[in-house]
This record gives sequence, C-alpha cells and structure tokens, in this order.
Amino acid sequence: MNLMYHSTRNSNIKVTASQAILQGLSPDGGLFVPEYIPKLTISMDRLSDMNYHELAYEVLKLYLTDYTEDELKDCISKAYDGKFDTPDIAPIRKAGRHFYLELYHGATIAFKDMALSILPHLLTTAARKNNISDEIVILTATSGDTGKAALAGFSDVKGTKIIVFYPKDGVSRVQEKQMVTQKGDNTYVIGINGNFDDAQTGVKSIFNDKDLENKMTEAGLRFSSANSINIGRLLPQIVYYIHSYIELYRRNEIAQGEKINFVVPTGNFGNILAAYYAKQMGLPINKLICASNDNKVLYDFFQTGVYDRNRDFILTISPSMDILVSSNLERLIYSIAGDDTHKTAEFMRALSTEGIYEITTDMRKRLECFVGGYATVDETKDSIHKVYTETGYVIDTHTAVAVNVYDKYLNSDKDTKSVIVATASPYKFAENVLEAITDKRIPEDDHEQAMLLKEISGVPIPDAINELHLAEIRHNKVCDTDKMRAEVEEILKII
Ligand SMILES: *Cc1c(COP(=O)(O)O)cnc(C)c1O
Repeated sequence: MNLMYHSTRNSNIKVTASQAILQGLSPDGGLFVPEYIPKLTISMDRLSDMNYHELAYEVLKLYLTDYTEDELKDCISKAYDGKFDTPDIAPIRKAGRHFYLELYHGATIAFKDMALSILPHLLTTAARKNNISDEIVILTATSGDTGKAALAGFSDVKGTKIIVFYPKDGVSRVQEKQMVTQKGDNTYVIGINGNFDDAQTGVKSIFNDKDLENKMTEAGLRFSSANSINIGRLLPQIVYYIHSYIELYRRNEIAQGEKINFVVPTGNFGNILAAYYAKQMGLPINKLICASNDNKVLYDFFQTGVYDRNRDFILTISPSMDILVSSNLERLIYSIAGDDTHKTAEFMRALSTEGIYEITTDMRKRLECFVGGYATVDETKDSIHKVYTETGYVIDTHTAVAVNVYDKYLNSDKDTKSVIVATASPYKFAENVLEAITDKRIPEDDHEQAMLLKEISGVPIPDAINELHLAEIRHNKVCDTDKMRAEVEEILKII
C-alpha cells in the first residue's frame, strides 16, 4: 500500500509521492502532506553502521513508497557524490561546547544543496514513472540560497527549464553573483523590484493561474516547484537530523535514546519542519529551537499564538531568513490542528486576506516542543565575534543567529545536548563575517574578501567561491512584481 499525500487544505485531493513531487503545490493552493508520518523502526545499532547514502535510503523509502528500490538508490547516489567536498556529506563539528551540524559542503555552500542535489533526480524519475512527456518548468522564488542551489541542480537537466526570481536588492553580493553567472541553456534568472515575500507570492499566483495552466498544457509544458513547498525538498532534509543524532551516539557524546535539542536558523520554516518530522518518526528530540532574525514573525507566533505578517520587512545580514510569510508553517498548522484540513484552510484564508490569524489553545499546547528566539543584527555580529575569539571557528551570519538564540536559551536549560544547524559557509557572507571578526580594512572586491577570510580562518576557499572570480555574467533581467507572469510567458514563448 502506497503512502498517499493530500493537500493541507483538502483531504480529497490525494496523490502518490511522485505525483506530489511533480506538482509541487496542490491545485487548491495547499501544500502536500503525507497521510501519516511513518515511524523509524530500525535499531540504533543497525543505524549506526550506516553511511549517509544508506540512511537516506532507509528514511526516504518510508515516504516515497511508489519509487522502486533501484530508482531511489539511483537518485541518492547521483545526489550525494563528489559535488560535496566531504564524504560525510553532513559532518558534525564541535567547537567549544557547541556542536555544529555543517550543512554547507555541497556545490553552492548553503544547506539548500542537501535537498536540491536530489530533487532534480526525484522529479525526472517521477515524470518517467507517470509517463509525463511535457517539459517541466521549475518556477522558484528565492531569498538567496535556494535559487543558486536549484539552478545548479537543474542546469542542463534534459526535459526541464528553470526560472528563478530573486529580490534584486535583498540578497548578498556573493549570492547574486552566484545566480547571475549560472550556466546552462535551460536556466533563467530574474531580479524583481520587491522583497522575497513578493517573489514568493508572485510565484504562487502563477502556479494557481488556471488560464496560464491551460496555455502551458497546450504547449506541452507543466510547472513544478523547487521551493520548500515541494514535499520533495522537505523529505531529504529529515535524513541529516537522524544522521547527526547517530553521529553523536557513535562518538559517545549521547546515550541511546537520550533527547537532544536542535537549534535551527529559520526563514521559510522548511529546515525546522524536517526536524519536527524526524521527531514524529521517533528521533529522541527534546526542543526544536526556532531562531529568527529581526523579521521575528515566528518568535512572536510561538510567544502568543498569533501569526501576524502585518509589519515592516527588515533587510538584515542574514538575507536567507528575511521572510514574513513562512510557507511551511502551513504544514505545522495542519499537524497541530489534528490534521484538520478545514481549519488549516480557514487560517490560510485569514492569512491571505487579513495577514493575521490566531491559533486555538489546544493547538498551542501541541507546540510544546518548539521554543522561539530571535537575534538582532548587532547580536548576530556579536555571536560571530564571540565564537571566533573563543574557539577559532568561523560561522556565517545565519548560523550566528542560531548561536545567539541558543546562548540565551541556555539560561533555562544547560543540561540537554544541543546541535546548532550551520546553514551556510562563512564565505557566502564574507563581508559581514569579516566585519565581525577583524579590525583590518575590508577590501571592496569579493575575491579579495575571500582571501582575507582564508588568511584569518585557515579554512580553504570553497570551489563555489573560487569559480565566481572570473565567471561571466549571463543574466541581467530585472522586472516589477506585477510583470512576473509576463516574463514567464515570454521565456516560455506562450504569449
Ligand atoms: C534558506 C536558509 C535558511 C532558512 O531555512 P528555511 O528552511 O527557509 O527556514 C537559513 N539559512 C540559510 C543559509 C538558508 O539558505
């Protein structure tokens, strides 16, 4: 029996795993969720013998039940290969008293590679399985890191095109350079005059545009998504939480069954939701600490039970977390509403019309395993400085938000071991990182910044940064938010 997926807003819209991945977003605007969260039943001893690939297979086979063993293993081995600069794929690093789960060893040096290395393979396999001959058009909004990771994953993948919209003035220099230099005849990158939420709203509305969908069908095209609204993005992220737990067990840092905390720098709520799924599967997790920057909608939500997006959007030094509408929270709302699709649909309607909703007391009780925290820009810089001076370890601006929030949390619980999720290489945000750790003059040029960071940190410059130095700019389009659909039509030649 296949594990089926349905919309968070309507349980009658039911599809297989491969169809959910193909579609990205449910036609009613909801997100696909599995009908139940499967349990991890293998013993710790067996798990601790597994490498990343073997574990990924054990986890994904529980969710992607309509993929064959060969198909899944093939996707996994193509995803987690030499694109990663370490065979561990997701190594744990201890610095001072903190454990860091480094998720930035993939091709684009941010954690998005963990899922976007495998998504293109899951998606093209899904198309084959479902006898889809249409060309798949990946439409993606990015706060900076998803865009490049998705472009790298789909570049020159046969039968696909990828279109990425990013906030023109809302990403770091390296992030922008990484995207606009992307190679591949099937890649399109467009800056928008707006912020990430505008980009995400625009993309969602293009997905839900029936008229456009008809034109697409006639032209033999269909949309899918590489954003974390696609369940195929979320599920591969469960693997590294389990992997890190096993690694701590292997190193005798924790006893079998000992509960640990994860501290996750959060924006769209995808990464931390994967940790929540891991907990539901049976991984011994105490608290999930949700760390936000100045855009602290989620912190307020965990404090008060009210989600209120009606506030100013603040540009920070952790741009991948500059988000006011965290899409994946919808999947959590569905879960804490007792899998109630009607209630979820109501809340989401309120969010889109009023920009605000308040959950019930019962729902709040189910949020017990979450702790919200936030760090300002100054606090973020302080944490980069503190970690560096105390341990010599250099963290990026997003990881620093998590460290800052965790250090505050330590006042209420010092005993539980915690893993801080390190989501990007400091090289991706070199300028801000350098400002926090050195009094030296910081060069203008990003290659010189990288060289200075290397001198200070002793960490080799990743290939992803080295190759930017001489890369040619291939994309320079910018549009207003109300022209996004027109841009898509022009690219696809379906005007
Ligand atoms: C995307 C991103 C985040 C936020 O992750 P979500 O899954 O959107 O919550 C945090 N840090 C970095 C570096 C990212 O790229």
